Amino acid sequence: MLPLHPALLSQPDYLFSQIAAAAEEERKRHPHRRVISLGIGDVTQPIAPVAASALRTAAAELATQKGQKGYGPAAGYPFLREAIAAQYADLPCPIPPEEVTVTAGSKEALGALFSLWEPGVPVWVCDPVYPAYRAQAEAAGHPVFSLPCRVENDFLPQPEEAAKPGLIVLCTPNNPTGAALSLVEMTEWVNWANRTGSLLLVDTAYAAFLSGEELPRSIYAVPGAKRCAIEVGSFSKSDGFTGVRCGWVILPRETGCAAAWQRWLGSHSNGTSYPIQRAAEAALSPTGLRQRQKALALYRQNAATMLQMFHKLGLTCAARRPGCLAPYLWVRCPDGPDAQNSWAWFHRLLEGCGVLCAPGAGFGQMGEGWLRFTAFSRPEDTAEALRRMEHFLR
Ligand code: PLP
Repeated sequence: MLPLHPALLSQPDYLFSQIAAAAEEERKRHPHRRVISLGIGDVTQPIAPVAASALRTAAAELATQKGQKGYGPAAGYPFLREAIAAQYADLPCPIPPEEVTVTAGSKEALGALFSLWEPGVPVWVCDPVYPAYRAQAEAAGHPVFSLPCRVENDFLPQPEEAAKPGLIVLCTPNNPTGAALSLVEMTEWVNWANRTGSLLLVDTAYAAFLSGEELPRSIYAVPGAKRCAIEVGSFSKSDGFTGVRCGWVILPRETGCAAAWQRWLGSHSNGTSYPIQRAAEAALSPTGLRQRQKALALYRQNAATMLQMFHKLGLTCAARRPGCLAPYLWVRCPDGPDAQNSWAWFHRLLEGCGVLCAPGAGFGQMGEGWLRFTAFSRPEDTAEALRRMEHFLR
């Protein structure tokens, strides 16, 4: 057998694959008890009717000679690049459509972006955070360092912890903690990056869960961000597109990386499917933006119900800033033996009451002692999971 890439061999199995495997084992052990998932952050509400309708119309168009399409532009069709750019139009750093790339999701986009820089360029990631960043950066040959996010600093990364310039990955609001950067904190990061020659890679997968001016939905709310920031966005959580697959990258010319990105796209991508891009365009239309609110409100309500119950059970939850209703609750493991062992608590909840969560340690060393619960489940499942947990933990 040919030797496999050492970066892949040294990595643990992907967190959510481990969680799914544990749930499957539990199902086999107790076939009559349904496992309720508050573990993997997948959506449960349908896509907006206007997006579904656009998808159907585009598929029908492809079945006609006039509407037939071959390969699309690698960076996306102009109609969607324009619709995405329009979302940034009122910010201090407006984004022209040429700086938008449509992708098949943000995970794919992030993986691609890490390969733009020379192997060895340091990458700084929050700890705890979405585990794909570390795996992808290591696979692209970058040494990865942690920006510790602790209770004492409201789980927010601090520029002074990044000991040397490099690529800094920020996720706001953060998965798994729900911590969101304020305009002041974003400005500090932008100033720091411009001063040190670092680049910020900002993941806004959950930005739709932010409201108000205080917690910006984009790094381009900060003047000067175009010199030092690349942003990745996604329709997955805001529009129920986890299985539809569409996201985007904003890569400003001022970062100096645009030519490398074009070269990468040319050799690696044949674009995203036409009907999906039409559906994404519809999701950003005034009707789509209105229709998405139904699912978002339901997830926010789930989060509020969960928070209330966790408090009732005496569990400590990470505080969230007003204006941030991120769909994750970051909860300290209950006191007692194993209070510092999130995998033990993960298994205890799964085996004891059939509730699936995500162990904090899977998001980084600093996540140990914490559990993540998602608010993306159906309300009736959320209620049932909370009932089971109440019974089990009391
Ligand atoms: N970024 C973060 C922070 C996530 O939590 C996820 C998925 O859970 C993604 C990106 C991937 O999203 P997408 O479905 O757009 O690939």
